[in-house]
Amino acid sequence: MLPKQLHCLLFVVIAGGIIIFWLVSTPASLRRTDVLTVTPWLAPIVWEGTFDPQVIDEAFRSYNLTIATTVFAVGKYTRFLRDFLESAEKHFMVGLNVQYYVFTDMPSHVPITVTLGVGRRLNVVKVPKFDRWQEISLRRMELIQTAIEEYIHQRANYIFCLDVDMIFHGRVGPEALGKLVAAIHPWFYWVPRNEYPYERRTISKAYIPQDHGDFYYQANIFGGAVEDVHRLTKTCREHLEMDKSAGVEAVWQEESHLNWYLWKNKPTKLLSPEYVWDDLRGQGAKEIKLVRFSSVIKNKAEVRENP
Ligand code: UDP
Ligand code: MN
Repeated sequence: MLPKQLHCLLFVVIAGGIIIFWLVSTPASLRRTDVLTVTPWLAPIVWEGTFDPQVIDEAFRSYNLTIATTVFAVGKYTRFLRDFLESAEKHFMVGLNVQYYVFTDMPSHVPITVTLGVGRRLNVVKVPKFDRWQEISLRRMELIQTAIEEYIHQRANYIFCLDVDMIFHGRVGPEALGKLVAAIHPWFYWVPRNEYPYERRTISKAYIPQDHGDFYYQANIFGGAVEDVHRLTKTCREHLEMDKSAGVEAVWQEESHLNWYLWKNKPTKLLSPEYVWDDLRGQGAKEIKLVRFSSVIKNKAEVRENP
């Protein structure tokens, strides 16, 4: 080979190497251009590829944080607890202190044999059985509010409130922590906001007018600093009760009130639908690089007390 051609080849190899190195080492946040990664009020939206898990874990290690995690398992929903807890032990806030609070009417059905990691504890809280599943939704806000006031505020820095009919499949770590955190609903992130299923009747305290609101959040996961979540649950509870006295039930019960609250009080961090996927949607969406936490497919008529 002639020396000139050799130089050219060498140049191409070195230039190619530099480009590949640049692509690999560039901060991940620069690589997601296919999805919205920040809100109009400058809160981050967490997607795979927008953060470095190792850097996040390292940054949070020294804080020795405790995360309270509430989950309701009333009636037949205790059947979801084992998979929920076992998968949480693999993926949820691994390396941090986690206090689970399982609210149930049947403490003997709680799978206490699930092996928990160091610094993690399961607390069972007995609650009455409610007649209608809509009532369970309603009482969740109240029970979380009083639990925060009575003991969680002394024991935890952050709190997450989760549905039980879900399984963790991927990391949900300290990248999800923030003052007020909510997740974008997996069925509504591409939908124009006038089509969000917000409560549209003015009689309800959850009313959001057309052309208002930011995102449609799913109530299956929300959280934040204990004080902020306390304010959220207290307000939602008050609004749920006002609605009840007025003889109205918001279209999606506490999810409607949560959406109202987050419209008036902007979350400081949003979780992408990776953090609240739905098995019914399958794996097809190309923007979902990693399903982290997903609703299992359930027979609603069979597990719920009333249709
Ligand atoms: N739930 C419960 N028992 C019931 C109905 C609901 O414990 O009979 C709790 C449970 O934590 C569940 C949450 O309330 O995950 C929300 O209800 P569901 O999952 O049925 O609502 P969806 O996610 O289908 O809207
Ligand atoms: Mn659910």
